[in-house]
Amino acid sequence: PSEALVKDMVAAVEKHARQLNRYPERDAVELRTALAEYVSEQTGVAVSVENVWAANGSNEVLQQLLQAFGGPGRSALGFTPSYSMHPILCAGTQTEFISCPRDADFRIDEEEALEAVAKHRPDVVFITTPNNPTGDVTPIDVVEKIVQAAPGIVIVDEAYMEFSPSPSATTLLEKYPTKLVVSRTMSKAFDFAGGRLGYFVADPAFVEAVMLVRLPYHLSVLSQIAATVALAHKEETLGTVAKLSAERDRVVARLKELGYYVVPSESNFVSFGRFADQHAVWQGFLDRDVLIRDNGVPGLLRATIGLPEENDAFLSAAADLADTVEMTN
Ligand code: PMP
Repeated sequence: PSEALVKDMVAAVEKHARQLNRYPERDAVELRTALAEYVSEQTGVAVSVENVWAANGSNEVLQQLLQAFGGPGRSALGFTPSYSMHPILCAGTQTEFISCPRDADFRIDEEEALEAVAKHRPDVVFITTPNNPTGDVTPIDVVEKIVQAAPGIVIVDEAYMEFSPSPSATTLLEKYPTKLVVSRTMSKAFDFAGGRLGYFVADPAFVEAVMLVRLPYHLSVLSQIAATVALAHKEETLGTVAKLSAERDRVVARLKELGYYVVPSESNFVSFGRFADQHAVWQGFLDRDVLIRDNGVPGLLRATIGLPEENDAFLSAAADLADTVEMTN
């Protein structure tokens, strides 16, 4: 966070600290209005406060959606490997999670996706795009076909969408108001993971539905004010997104040069491989003082894009390891 943002945040917190004896504004209207303005600007789709819902991170947003639309006797389908919290949130809401595997290159296979939706008729479908942990984007026409085929709701998890030049699924909201909900977060592009602020964009009926299951006053005064201040500084914060995306493209190009397989990434991390034993390679990076992630996807490791010098350290370890590790591609 920039110094200007920190200064404004401190001033806003000081002002509101004097009223912490009061409960917060329970519908977070001011914050949701600011989020609606941001989404309209960022995605080019005009939305207003009635279309936006906010909670403590998109994890809570997803949980509220499952509380409202999942539950005992209902099911949710996801395209795996994908965000590990989707099945966990399903378990917590007693929603059956159905896994439809991605293809050998970790993309959603359109035909298999449509078949799985027709076969299982899930109440909820998750599409994570850009996907975590692989980084790839599902083309918007594939998203639309899945929405058309889905008998229930489709949650498009766009936690990393600011890092991608591809169109947001908000562009489909007007066409599929009863089915589509787009989940987003300030954790990634806004450098605001500690602030805990996620939101969704959808038809106002979705907002009314989650209002039935949210806890009273779920979003504290401090969360609401901090997020509103962070949104007011969006220009400087989002400036780092462009730099980070350029660094990502540099890292991808170099990894390919070194002979690694790289999943095309439109996110703030890169998945690469393919390794006969990815955990041994993870250890090899750690032995060179570079900590990356083994998300448990066979053959792949995930590296988060950092500062240029951190990326250099990662690439130098990758160069060191390239000749010694066993690859399977
Ligand atoms: N969706 C995806 C795809 C994620 O990767 C994450 C965080 N890792 C989240 C949602 C949740 O983020 P938060 O709760 O911080 O908004």
